[in-house]
Amino acid sequence: MHQTNSIAELQHLVRTWRQAGENIALVPTMGNLHAGHINLVKRAQTLANRVIVSIFVNPTQFGPNEDYTNYPRTLTEDTEKLTKNSVDLLFTPECSTIYPPGASTQVSVHDLSEIHCGAARPGHFTGVTTIITKLFNIAQPDLAIFGEKDFQQLTIIRKMVHDLNIPVSIHSVPTLRESDGLAMSSRNSYLNSEDRTLAPILYQTLSEAKRQIEAGKSDFRKMELVYLQQLQQAGFQPEYFSVCRIDNLSIATITDKELVILTAVKLGKTRLIDNILVSLSDS
Ligand code: AMP
Repeated sequence: MHQTNSIAELQHLVRTWRQAGENIALVPTMGNLHAGHINLVKRAQTLANRVIVSIFVNPTQFGPNEDYTNYPRTLTEDTEKLTKNSVDLLFTPECSTIYPPGASTQVSVHDLSEIHCGAARPGHFTGVTTIITKLFNIAQPDLAIFGEKDFQQLTIIRKMVHDLNIPVSIHSVPTLRESDGLAMSSRNSYLNSEDRTLAPILYQTLSEAKRQIEAGKSDFRKMELVYLQQLQQAGFQPEYFSVCRIDNLSIATITDKELVILTAVKLGKTRLIDNILVSLSDS
């Protein structure tokens, strides 16, 4: 596996691959890789001749009181995992390479970036869309892979690519979970043992809400209030629990058939997000 922190070196390799007629996939990450990330790599390998993984803990997507400084950085272990999984290139740029002094341009997807997680984390999604645009421009991949774990992020990136005619095709991979249902996440390592035993209740609650909707419940607003209360009683500090339209993440109504239930909670100091898809099209 090649590894570089240099844009010029990355672009030299990409040029060589392109001249050989190969297509290229990009898997953007913040590192501390787990099996969920590796699933993205495996999907990339089924779609492209060459796979680039980027590891960059992007400061502009963290709020002032968030965990940028403490975010787990495990480059040695990450490099081993990516080598073992036959990734072609690991791109690990320095902050000063990505954001040289004086850089003042941002990419924002309005509205979608201000709801759900965006309401609690102002500026977060602008940080995400700006870094993803930069990585797309740097690597010029044919396709890029994102996890459904971050469903709002995936939706925003799809919209950005559509709105700005960015010639990168976006593919998504379902959320990989621990055996008890907790969505794999780098932030799970922040959970103490007591919180770790509570954490699977989040996905259990989403699954229960999905069952209720599939069984015909359609008063989504009332359900949201009930599940927010249940989560609170279980020991979470819920931020939102929302039944949404899958296409634009607006509040779902009774006529909508393709839904996603999005939720974010705090458990102790750890912020957890999760979601579940609900399709009523065949019912
Ligand atoms: P991160 O390193 O957390 O920024 O995540 C990098 C990519 O991996 C994003 O596209 C995430 O949605 C995806 N990802 C993170 N956790 C999971 C998971 N448990 N299952 C599938 N994809 C994931």
